[in-house]
Amino acid sequence: MATATPTPLDELTWDQSFQRDLPADPEGEVFPRQVINAAWSRVAPTPVRAPRLLAWAPEVAELLGIDGVHAPDALAQVLSGNVAAQGMAPFATVYAGHQFGHFAGQLGDGRAISLGEIVRPDGARWELQLKGAGPTPYSRTADGRAVLRSSVREFLCSEAMHHLGVPTTRALSLVGTGEDVVRDMLYSGDPRPEPGAVVCRVAPSFIRFGHFENFAWRKDHANLTRLADHVLARHYPDLGAPGPDAYLAMLQAIATHTATLMAEWMRVGFVHGVMNTDNLSVLGLTIDYGPYGWLEGYDPGWTPNTTDRQGKRYRFGNQPGVGLWNLARLAEAVYPLVQDEAALNAVLEGYRDTFAAAQQAIFVAKLGLGAWRPEDDDLVTDWLACLSAVETDMTLAYRQLSDCTAADRAPAEWLAVVAPALYVPLDDAQQAAWVAWLRRWAARVRGGAPDAARQAVMRQANPKYVLRNWMAQLAIDAAEQGDLAPLTRLHAVLRRPYDDQPEAHADFYQRRPEWARHKPGCSMLSCSS
Ligand code: AMP
Ligand code: MG
Repeated sequence: MATATPTPLDELTWDQSFQRDLPADPEGEVFPRQVINAAWSRVAPTPVRAPRLLAWAPEVAELLGIDGVHAPDALAQVLSGNVAAQGMAPFATVYAGHQFGHFAGQLGDGRAISLGEIVRPDGARWELQLKGAGPTPYSRTADGRAVLRSSVREFLCSEAMHHLGVPTTRALSLVGTGEDVVRDMLYSGDPRPEPGAVVCRVAPSFIRFGHFENFAWRKDHANLTRLADHVLARHYPDLGAPGPDAYLAMLQAIATHTATLMAEWMRVGFVHGVMNTDNLSVLGLTIDYGPYGWLEGYDPGWTPNTTDRQGKRYRFGNQPGVGLWNLARLAEAVYPLVQDEAALNAVLEGYRDTFAAAQQAIFVAKLGLGAWRPEDDDLVTDWLACLSAVETDMTLAYRQLSDCTAADRAPAEWLAVVAPALYVPLDDAQQAAWVAWLRRWAARVRGGAPDAARQAVMRQANPKYVLRNWMAQLAIDAAEQGDLAPLTRLHAVLRRPYDDQPEAHADFYQRRPEWARHKPGCSMLSCSS
């Protein structure tokens, strides 16, 4: 990396706590290898030909203390990895993981290169990571690059999630590299060149369950301990001095964050698509946006990931259970530090209760119930039965309900409430079931908070705008042709997902259009990115 025109990134305070707390790989060259007795490798991003800033998240810039884009070309040089800012010391970390239920050995940052942490005056630390910045010792047989299509998806979705209030890694920038990357998008034996890009991700850290699994698998208990101590010091400083009790409390905290995150994904209809243990954050953040999707027709069995078509391990309704399965792998990994099986199991058992409580609170808000009553179990079950009976758009159904007063009305008027969410017409029995449920719901919420107050709560729990795959795909198709306007517009809409935004209604408050039902990128997504 060379130095060049100064950018605001040069003026920030950089630090390297991961590098300080954990041992480095002594090998300095980049070639695929097993890295033992070390947590990270020095690696410089591989320069790209013609970096260009394509998208920028002002809220993330503000978090970092960057006040606006004054020199986009110089920023693109830094945020593509061509140029190092003062204080950066790029590195890639090693982790392992269970992929689709099987232990996969060493994985690591194969195409993500961290630049270091920015330390803010209030003490907050933000790690910056370039995804798609070229090969690292962990790239195995792959190229270390990312295509524009998947980078647009990661940029948009991390920001959409944040504005929905769901814990997530952030994205500062999207930079086109001016270079092609060859991918077989559907694994159909048809590799093609596609434009490449680099996303600058931002998070307190990118530490995954798999970082712990790596040292546990290698029986490297010294580094397992150092990693746990680093995570405690950096992320869970209130859990006491390092030792078995603090390590157990750390697992408890991670379990709580994970359960809450799963409930939040269920609230907004998000399906991650690849919930391998290397894709779960120890901070409970949504991380690694790949073949994710958003429920359109409400279907707990749905996954957008064609690579997971057979077992549908990571389908919508399975996510809370997978969260627990993954926590069990993390509990096994930290066992040497805690050495108390009963205590670790108690943490895992507590996960279900944490999730159930979070989910109940979410249904209270989404349906405007004020407070949970025992009979609400049936109300929720029957609501989900209505949503499942014929293809019904989850986001639209909840939002339509949020806009509804509790006054009783004629059956045709009740049906008009739900009509915008339906993909197919209802038969007579289905109509009767919907009207009966809506009447029950209205009777349940009537006499509670006044309509306006209840609606305000419901609208904050039920987003109007989510990043449906076809919306991302329209922005991608245009961006690939050099037109950034749809991407910029979509990004703007997703920053205010709970607001009415009348000017966005016609284009974005919509069921999936029929053309998108079977189009690659809209209904079918593979891990190829
Ligand atoms: P994922 O399932 O996308 O989270 O990736 C699993 C593993 O494959 C991680 O170790 C990634 O860093 C690595 N990986 C994915 N794509 C690439 C790529 N194009 N080049 C190098 N490594 C990659
Ligand atoms: Mg990953």
